[in-house]
Amino acid sequence: MYHHLKKLMYTVRVGTPDPKFGNMLLEQFGGANGELAAAMQYSIQGLNCDDPGRKDLLMDIGTEELSHLEVVGTLARMHLKPMKKSRTAAEADPLVAIVGGGGVSLNNSEGNPWTADYLKISGQMEVDLRNNIAAEARAKITYENLINFTEDAGTIDALNFLMTREITHMKAFMLALDSMGIGPLTIGKLPPNPEWVNKYFNDSTGTGDDGETDQRGPWNEGGDWEYVQSPAIEAFKSQGNGSTRHVSESSATAEARKPVSRR
Ligand code: MN
Ligand code: MN
Repeated sequence: MYHHLKKLMYTVRVGTPDPKFGNMLLEQFGGANGELAAAMQYSIQGLNCDDPGRKDLLMDIGTEELSHLEVVGTLARMHLKPMKKSRTAAEADPLVAIVGGGGVSLNNSEGNPWTADYLKISGQMEVDLRNNIAAEARAKITYENLINFTEDAGTIDALNFLMTREITHMKAFMLALDSMGIGPLTIGKLPPNPEWVNKYFNDSTGTGDDGETDQRGPWNEGGDWEYVQSPAIEAFKSQGNGSTRHVSESSATAEARKPVSRR
């Protein structure tokens, strides 16, 4: 059951309206990482969730995101409002000015309509929670980018609140995932195939124009990792083509001839 209170979750004040910035704000209204997407993703995941604790979490945060939608929509509307009368202002976003009459609609900053394709709903809680952690991270950085493009103190204040709440949500989703008590690589029920799961394929080789070479780190060495030369390079060499004139990238060929490092 939903109810609306005639009060914003956070007070919004705008000094000087900036229609071009209002257009940018639509990214958080009807965009891929925006508040409607967050509200719908968490609320619908909540409908699918059989675990009462995590269902409550999803409904709490999904509902808060609707309040964020109201805050960012109010803020965008204040910035877009000059479009109602000013031709110069209308040029900042003709779609909003001509079709929307200077009000907000569920489009992103490029005028693309909001779509349920933005939502990540898997029906598997450890997957959904990871989707949500990533969604909060994207929303956080989008707010940060917006804050960098305005000098209006009231606008920055409201955006800072919204940005901060995304970190709060990220924290709650991370703890909800941790408290499931499953390993970080346990996804679903079927185990991965042991023949393949620990092989790291060195599929990008050679030397780049800026001197880039193969790099090693915990993502491809130590622990259970088996560092395997690119299957494509191995197949190429086994065909006896390792030094033919067909290869124009001499460094890649030299790299292919080096002994393959294996643990
Ligand atoms: Mn939000
Ligand atoms: Mn959030």
